[in-house]
Amino acid sequence: MKHKIGILGIVAALFISLLFGTQTTSAATKDLVVHYIDIGQGDAIYIKTPNGKNILIDAGNKAKGHDVVAYLKKQKVKTIDVMIATHPDADHIGGLDEVLDAFVVKNVYAPKVSHTTKAYKDFLLAVKREKVKIKTAKMGVNLPVGDKLIAMKFLAPVKSYATSDLNNWSAVLHLKYNKNTFLFTGDAETRSENDMIANKVLSKVDVLKVSHHGAKSSTSEKFLNAVKPKYAVISVGKGNRYKHPTPETLKRLKNAKAQVYRTDTQGTVKATSNGKTIKFQTAAKPKSSTASAVSYKLTPSLDNKTPKQNGTVNLTVKGLPTGTKYTAVFNYKSTKTTYNGTVGKTLPVKIGRAAKGYTVKVDVTSTYKGKIYKSQVSFTPK
Ligand SMILES: [Zn+2]
Repeated sequence: MKHKIGILGIVAALFISLLFGTQTTSAATKDLVVHYIDIGQGDAIYIKTPNGKNILIDAGNKAKGHDVVAYLKKQKVKTIDVMIATHPDADHIGGLDEVLDAFVVKNVYAPKVSHTTKAYKDFLLAVKREKVKIKTAKMGVNLPVGDKLIAMKFLAPVKSYATSDLNNWSAVLHLKYNKNTFLFTGDAETRSENDMIANKVLSKVDVLKVSHHGAKSSTSEKFLNAVKPKYAVISVGKGNRYKHPTPETLKRLKNAKAQVYRTDTQGTVKATSNGKTIKFQTAAKPKSSTASAVSYKLTPSLDNKTPKQNGTVNLTVKGLPTGTKYTAVFNYKSTKTTYNGTVGKTLPVKIGRAAKGYTVKVDVTSTYKGKIYKSQVSFTPK
Protein backbone atom coordinates (compact mmCIF):
# COMPACT_ATOMS: atom_id res chain seq x y z
CA MET A 1 0.00 0.00 0.00
CA LYS A 2 2.77 2.36 0.93
CA HIS A 3 4.47 1.45 -2.33
CA LYS A 4 1.33 2.29 -4.30
CA ILE A 5 1.07 5.76 -2.76
CA GLY A 6 4.71 6.31 -3.66
CA ILE A 7 4.03 5.70 -7.33
CA LEU A 8 0.91 7.86 -7.27
CA GLY A 9 2.98 10.59 -5.71
CA ILE A 10 5.55 10.39 -8.48
CA VAL A 11 2.84 10.48 -11.15
CA ALA A 12 1.28 13.53 -9.50
CA ALA A 13 4.67 15.24 -9.27
CA LEU A 14 5.32 14.53 -12.96
CA PHE A 15 1.93 15.95 -13.87
CA ILE A 16 2.57 19.10 -11.84
CA SER A 17 6.03 19.53 -13.32
CA LEU A 18 4.58 19.19 -16.82
CA LEU A 19 2.03 21.87 -16.06
CA PHE A 20 4.64 24.09 -14.52
CA GLY A 21 6.92 23.50 -17.49
CA THR A 22 4.23 24.62 -19.91
CA GLN A 23 3.62 27.76 -17.90
CA THR A 24 7.25 28.80 -17.82
CA THR A 25 7.78 28.31 -21.56
CA SER A 26 4.68 30.29 -22.49
CA ALA A 27 6.63 33.43 -21.61
CA ALA A 28 9.10 32.57 -24.36
CA THR A 29 7.09 31.09 -27.18
CA LYS A 30 8.63 33.39 -29.77
CA ASP A 31 11.71 32.27 -31.63
CA LEU A 32 15.10 33.75 -32.13
CA VAL A 33 16.41 32.87 -35.58
CA VAL A 34 20.02 32.99 -36.69
CA HIS A 35 20.68 32.82 -40.44
CA TYR A 36 24.22 31.93 -41.46
CA ILE A 37 23.77 33.19 -45.00
CA ASP A 38 25.59 31.34 -47.75
CA ILE A 39 27.59 34.09 -49.47
CA GLY A 40 30.54 31.96 -50.55
CA GLN A 41 33.86 32.65 -48.85
CA GLY A 42 33.19 35.11 -46.02
CA ASP A 43 30.63 35.77 -43.29
CA ALA A 44 27.14 37.23 -43.31
CA ILE A 45 24.90 36.45 -40.36
CA TYR A 46 21.40 37.75 -39.80
CA ILE A 47 19.71 37.45 -36.42
CA LYS A 48 16.03 38.10 -35.80
CA THR A 49 15.17 38.45 -32.13
CA PRO A 50 11.79 37.40 -30.68
CA ASN A 51 10.89 41.07 -30.12
CA GLY A 52 11.48 41.81 -33.81
CA LYS A 53 14.93 43.38 -33.71
CA ASN A 54 17.24 42.82 -36.69
CA ILE A 55 20.93 42.26 -36.20
CA LEU A 56 23.48 41.81 -38.98
CA ILE A 57 27.03 40.58 -38.52
CA ASP A 58 29.14 41.21 -41.66
CA ALA A 59 27.92 41.00 -45.25
CA GLY A 60 30.49 39.04 -47.22
CA ASN A 61 32.54 40.41 -50.12
CA LYS A 62 31.61 43.49 -52.09
CA ALA A 63 30.17 41.31 -54.85
CA LYS A 64 27.86 39.65 -52.29
CA GLY A 65 26.38 42.85 -50.84
CA HIS A 66 23.54 42.60 -53.34
CA ASP A 67 22.73 39.03 -52.28
CA VAL A 68 22.68 39.99 -48.61
CA VAL A 69 20.33 42.91 -49.33
CA ALA A 70 18.05 40.59 -51.32
CA TYR A 71 18.10 38.00 -48.55
CA LEU A 72 17.20 40.56 -45.89
CA LYS A 73 14.41 42.00 -48.04
CA LYS A 74 13.00 38.51 -48.46
CA GLN A 75 12.94 38.28 -44.66
CA LYS A 76 10.93 41.54 -44.69
CA VAL A 77 13.68 43.52 -42.97
CA LYS A 78 13.16 47.28 -43.11
CA THR A 79 15.43 48.51 -40.34
CA ILE A 80 18.65 47.07 -39.04
CA ASP A 81 18.87 47.76 -35.34
CA VAL A 82 22.42 46.57 -34.90
CA MET A 83 25.08 46.14 -37.57
CA ILE A 84 28.38 44.59 -36.56
CA ALA A 85 31.48 44.83 -38.74
CA THR A 86 33.65 42.20 -37.08
CA HIS A 87 36.92 43.40 -38.66
CA PRO A 88 38.01 45.30 -41.78
CA ASP A 89 38.71 42.29 -44.02
CA ALA A 90 36.93 42.43 -47.37
CA ASP A 91 35.17 39.08 -46.99
CA HIS A 92 33.36 40.50 -43.95
CA ILE A 93 32.80 44.21 -44.56
CA GLY A 94 32.82 44.28 -48.38
CA GLY A 95 29.05 44.04 -48.69
CA LEU A 96 28.15 46.28 -45.75
CA ASP A 97 28.09 49.56 -47.73
CA GLU A 98 25.35 48.18 -49.97
CA VAL A 99 23.37 47.08 -46.90
CA LEU A 100 23.86 50.54 -45.30
CA ASP A 101 22.50 52.17 -48.44
CA ALA A 102 19.52 49.82 -48.72
CA PHE A 103 18.20 49.92 -45.13
CA VAL A 104 17.88 52.24 -42.18
CA VAL A 105 20.73 51.21 -39.90
CA LYS A 106 20.43 52.45 -36.32
CA ASN A 107 23.64 51.25 -34.70
CA VAL A 108 26.98 50.24 -36.16
CA TYR A 109 29.61 48.48 -34.07
CA ALA A 110 33.19 47.82 -35.17
CA PRO A 111 36.53 47.27 -33.45
CA LYS A 112 38.79 50.31 -33.21
CA VAL A 113 41.15 49.40 -36.02
CA SER A 114 41.29 50.92 -39.47
CA HIS A 115 42.43 49.67 -42.80
CA THR A 116 43.48 51.22 -46.09
CA THR A 117 41.55 49.04 -48.52
CA LYS A 118 38.80 50.32 -50.77
CA ALA A 119 36.32 47.96 -49.10
CA TYR A 120 36.99 49.58 -45.73
CA LYS A 121 36.82 53.14 -47.11
CA ASP A 122 33.53 52.36 -48.83
CA PHE A 123 32.17 51.03 -45.57
CA LEU A 124 33.19 54.23 -43.71
CA LEU A 125 31.64 56.43 -46.40
CA ALA A 126 28.38 54.47 -46.25
CA VAL A 127 28.30 54.82 -42.45
CA LYS A 128 28.77 58.57 -42.92
CA ARG A 129 25.87 58.72 -45.42
CA GLU A 130 23.76 56.88 -42.85
CA LYS A 131 24.64 59.66 -40.36
CA VAL A 132 25.52 57.28 -37.56
CA LYS A 133 28.67 57.07 -35.50
CA ILE A 134 30.55 53.81 -35.21
CA LYS A 135 30.45 52.44 -31.68
CA THR A 136 33.48 50.54 -30.48
CA ALA A 137 33.19 46.78 -30.26
CA LYS A 138 35.43 45.45 -27.51
CA MET A 139 35.35 43.17 -24.50
CA GLY A 140 32.67 44.10 -21.97
CA VAL A 141 30.47 46.21 -24.24
CA ASN A 142 26.80 45.27 -23.87
CA LEU A 143 24.33 45.73 -26.70
CA PRO A 144 20.82 46.78 -25.76
CA VAL A 145 18.07 44.71 -27.39
CA GLY A 146 15.09 45.65 -25.22
CA ASP A 147 14.18 42.09 -24.28
CA LYS A 148 14.97 40.87 -20.79
CA LEU A 149 15.43 37.29 -22.02
CA ILE A 150 18.17 38.39 -24.41
CA ALA A 151 21.68 39.47 -23.51
CA MET A 152 24.28 40.45 -26.09
CA LYS A 153 27.81 41.25 -25.19
CA PHE A 154 31.20 41.59 -26.86
CA LEU A 155 33.88 39.27 -25.47
CA ALA A 156 36.64 40.52 -27.76
CA PRO A 157 38.81 42.22 -28.82
CA VAL A 158 40.22 42.03 -25.33
CA LYS A 159 42.98 44.52 -26.16
CA SER A 160 44.73 46.22 -29.06
CA TYR A 161 46.72 44.21 -31.59
CA ALA A 162 49.06 45.21 -34.37
CA THR A 163 47.15 46.79 -37.25
CA SER A 164 48.48 44.00 -39.46
CA ASP A 165 46.86 41.46 -37.14
CA LEU A 166 43.33 42.23 -38.35
CA ASN A 167 41.83 38.80 -37.62
CA ASN A 168 42.62 39.06 -33.93
CA TRP A 169 40.87 42.42 -33.82
CA SER A 170 37.62 40.60 -34.63
CA ALA A 171 34.60 41.59 -32.59
CA VAL A 172 33.42 38.43 -30.83
CA LEU A 173 29.76 38.51 -29.87
CA HIS A 174 28.07 36.40 -27.22
CA LEU A 175 24.31 36.11 -27.50
CA LYS A 176 22.13 34.56 -24.85
CA TYR A 177 18.44 33.90 -25.31
CA ASN A 178 16.99 32.47 -22.14
CA LYS A 179 18.82 29.13 -21.87
CA ASN A 180 20.40 29.10 -25.33
CA THR A 181 23.74 30.64 -26.18
CA PHE A 182 25.48 31.57 -29.42
CA LEU A 183 29.02 32.74 -30.06
CA PHE A 184 30.04 34.71 -33.15
CA THR A 185 33.78 34.92 -33.56
CA GLY A 186 34.53 36.70 -36.84
CA ASP A 187 38.04 35.62 -37.82
CA ALA A 188 39.56 35.68 -34.30
CA GLU A 189 42.68 33.53 -34.11
CA THR A 190 44.44 31.70 -31.30
CA ARG A 191 45.97 34.89 -29.91
CA SER A 192 42.54 36.43 -29.34
CA GLU A 193 41.18 33.07 -28.15
CA ASN A 194 43.93 32.86 -25.54
CA ASP A 195 43.31 36.45 -24.45
CA MET A 196 39.62 35.64 -23.95
CA ILE A 197 40.55 32.54 -21.97
CA ALA A 198 43.00 34.56 -19.83
CA ASN A 199 40.25 37.11 -19.13
CA LYS A 200 37.80 34.35 -18.18
CA VAL A 201 35.10 35.63 -20.51
CA LEU A 202 34.40 32.29 -22.16
CA SER A 203 31.87 29.71 -21.06
CA LYS A 204 29.92 26.83 -22.58
CA VAL A 205 27.89 27.73 -25.67
CA ASP A 206 25.30 25.88 -27.69
CA VAL A 207 26.25 27.20 -31.11
CA LEU A 208 29.69 28.33 -32.21
CA LYS A 209 30.23 30.22 -35.44
CA VAL A 210 33.59 28.67 -36.25
CA SER A 211 36.20 31.36 -36.57
CA HIS A 212 37.99 32.28 -39.80
CA HIS A 213 36.07 29.83 -42.01
CA GLY A 214 37.66 26.84 -40.31
CA ALA A 215 41.30 27.92 -40.73
CA LYS A 216 43.69 25.94 -38.57
CA SER A 217 45.04 29.09 -36.86
CA SER A 218 41.73 29.40 -34.99
CA THR A 219 39.48 27.11 -32.93
CA SER A 220 42.24 25.66 -30.79
CA GLU A 221 41.66 22.67 -28.56
CA LYS A 222 42.02 24.95 -25.54
CA PHE A 223 39.37 27.29 -26.93
CA LEU A 224 37.00 24.39 -27.67
CA ASN A 225 37.51 23.13 -24.13
CA ALA A 226 36.38 26.51 -22.86
CA VAL A 227 33.27 26.86 -25.05
CA LYS A 228 32.31 23.18 -25.55
CA PRO A 229 29.93 23.85 -28.45
CA LYS A 230 27.09 21.44 -29.17
CA TYR A 231 26.87 22.79 -32.71
CA ALA A 232 29.44 24.46 -34.92
CA VAL A 233 28.64 26.44 -38.06
CA ILE A 234 31.33 27.05 -40.67
CA SER A 235 30.71 29.89 -43.12
CA VAL A 236 32.94 29.06 -46.05
CA GLY A 237 33.00 29.14 -49.87
CA LYS A 238 32.91 25.99 -51.92
CA GLY A 239 36.34 25.18 -53.36
CA ASN A 240 37.91 28.33 -51.86
CA ARG A 241 41.59 28.94 -52.57
CA TYR A 242 42.52 28.95 -48.87
CA LYS A 243 41.37 25.34 -48.57
CA HIS A 244 39.11 26.25 -45.66
CA PRO A 245 37.99 24.50 -43.58
CA THR A 246 41.21 22.65 -42.77
CA PRO A 247 41.27 18.98 -41.73
CA GLU A 248 42.96 20.04 -38.47
CA THR A 249 40.03 22.24 -37.44
CA LEU A 250 37.46 19.65 -38.52
CA LYS A 251 39.28 17.06 -36.45
CA ARG A 252 39.35 19.31 -33.38
CA LEU A 253 35.61 19.94 -33.77
CA LYS A 254 35.02 16.23 -34.11
CA ASN A 255 37.05 15.51 -30.99
CA ALA A 256 35.01 18.16 -29.18
CA LYS A 257 31.86 16.27 -30.32
CA ALA A 258 30.38 19.34 -31.99
CA GLN A 259 27.83 18.76 -34.70
CA VAL A 260 29.11 20.66 -37.73
CA TYR A 261 27.06 22.61 -40.28
CA ARG A 262 28.74 24.15 -43.34
CA THR A 263 27.49 26.74 -45.80
CA ASP A 264 29.65 25.37 -48.64
CA THR A 265 27.94 21.99 -48.64
CA GLN A 266 24.58 22.84 -47.07
CA GLY A 267 23.87 26.38 -48.22
CA THR A 268 22.37 28.88 -45.79
CA VAL A 269 22.15 27.39 -42.29
CA LYS A 270 19.26 28.51 -40.09
CA ALA A 271 19.25 27.95 -36.32
CA THR A 272 15.95 28.53 -34.53
CA SER A 273 15.90 28.84 -30.76
CA ASN A 274 12.81 28.95 -28.57
CA GLY A 275 15.03 29.84 -25.65
CA LYS A 276 15.38 26.22 -24.58
CA THR A 277 16.10 24.13 -27.64
CA ILE A 278 17.68 24.86 -31.00
CA LYS A 279 16.61 23.42 -34.31
CA PHE A 280 18.65 23.58 -37.49
CA GLN A 281 17.50 23.91 -41.05
CA THR A 282 19.65 24.02 -44.15
CA ALA A 283 18.72 25.55 -47.49
CA ALA A 284 20.01 22.75 -49.62
CA LYS A 285 20.02 19.13 -48.70
CA PRO A 286 23.63 18.23 -48.08
CA LYS A 287 25.23 16.90 -51.24
CA SER A 288 26.28 13.88 -49.26
CA SER A 289 22.65 12.94 -48.55
CA THR A 290 22.37 11.47 -52.05
CA ALA A 291 25.94 10.28 -51.87
CA SER A 292 25.40 8.78 -48.44
CA ALA A 293 23.78 5.81 -50.20
CA VAL A 294 27.30 5.29 -51.56
CA SER A 295 29.27 4.17 -48.58
CA TYR A 296 32.98 4.81 -48.62
CA LYS A 297 35.40 2.32 -47.20
CA LEU A 298 39.08 2.99 -47.33
CA THR A 299 40.74 -0.20 -48.61
CA PRO A 300 44.51 -0.26 -48.83
CA SER A 301 46.34 -3.24 -50.29
CA LEU A 302 49.94 -4.25 -50.90
CA ASP A 303 51.25 -6.16 -53.88
CA ASN A 304 53.63 -8.15 -51.73
CA LYS A 305 52.99 -9.22 -48.12
CA THR A 306 56.43 -10.81 -47.68
CA PRO A 307 58.92 -8.58 -49.48
CA LYS A 308 62.66 -9.04 -49.28
CA GLN A 309 64.82 -6.55 -47.39
CA ASN A 310 65.68 -3.51 -49.54
CA GLY A 311 62.76 -4.39 -51.78
CA THR A 312 59.80 -2.24 -52.77
CA VAL A 313 56.18 -2.69 -51.82
CA ASN A 314 53.47 -1.06 -53.90
CA LEU A 315 50.60 0.36 -51.91
CA THR A 316 47.23 0.78 -53.61
CA VAL A 317 44.39 2.58 -51.86
CA LYS A 318 40.81 2.28 -53.04
CA GLY A 319 37.37 2.98 -51.66
CA LEU A 320 37.42 6.79 -51.91
CA PRO A 321 37.07 8.92 -55.07
CA THR A 322 40.17 8.94 -57.29
CA GLY A 323 42.45 11.86 -56.52
CA THR A 324 41.69 11.95 -52.78
CA LYS A 325 44.91 12.41 -50.80
CA TYR A 326 45.89 10.07 -48.03
CA THR A 327 48.79 9.49 -45.66
CA ALA A 328 50.35 6.09 -45.00
CA VAL A 329 52.39 5.60 -41.84
CA PHE A 330 54.79 2.66 -42.00
CA ASN A 331 55.39 1.47 -38.45
CA TYR A 332 58.79 -0.19 -38.73
CA LYS A 333 60.36 -1.88 -35.73
CA SER A 334 62.60 1.06 -34.89
CA THR A 335 61.05 3.98 -36.75
CA LYS A 336 57.93 5.39 -38.36
CA THR A 337 57.86 6.79 -41.87
CA THR A 338 54.97 8.76 -43.32
CA TYR A 339 54.20 8.84 -47.05
CA ASN A 340 51.64 10.93 -48.91
CA GLY A 341 49.65 9.18 -51.57
CA THR A 342 46.69 9.68 -53.87
CA VAL A 343 43.75 7.34 -54.29
CA GLY A 344 44.00 5.70 -57.71
CA LYS A 345 47.80 5.98 -57.95
CA THR A 346 50.18 3.24 -56.89
CA LEU A 347 52.58 4.34 -54.18
CA PRO A 348 55.92 2.51 -54.35
CA VAL A 349 57.72 2.37 -50.99
CA LYS A 350 61.30 1.21 -50.61
CA ILE A 351 61.38 -0.68 -47.35
CA GLY A 352 65.17 -0.51 -46.85
CA ARG A 353 66.58 -2.84 -44.24
CA ALA A 354 63.28 -3.40 -42.46
CA ALA A 355 63.67 -6.05 -39.76
CA LYS A 356 63.08 -9.58 -41.05
CA GLY A 357 60.12 -11.34 -39.51
CA TYR A 358 58.77 -8.11 -37.92
CA THR A 359 55.27 -7.30 -39.12
CA VAL A 360 55.12 -3.70 -40.32
CA LYS A 361 51.69 -2.19 -39.84
CA VAL A 362 50.71 0.50 -42.32
CA ASP A 363 48.13 3.01 -41.06
CA VAL A 364 46.30 4.69 -43.91
CA THR A 365 44.30 7.85 -43.15
CA SER A 366 42.30 10.01 -45.51
CA THR A 367 39.84 12.87 -45.19
CA TYR A 368 37.02 13.14 -47.67
CA LYS A 369 34.29 15.80 -47.41
CA GLY A 370 35.22 16.47 -43.83
CA LYS A 371 35.04 12.83 -42.79
CA ILE A 372 38.10 10.92 -41.66
CA TYR A 373 38.66 7.39 -42.95
CA LYS A 374 41.21 5.01 -41.49
CA SER A 375 42.39 1.55 -42.36
CA GLN A 376 45.40 -0.70 -41.95
CA VAL A 377 47.43 -3.22 -43.91
CA SER A 378 50.63 -4.98 -43.00
CA PHE A 379 53.57 -6.85 -44.44
CA THR A 380 56.37 -8.95 -43.00
CA PRO A 381 59.82 -8.67 -44.58
CA LYS A 382 61.59 -11.98 -44.98
ZN1 LIG B 1 37.23 36.00 -43.19
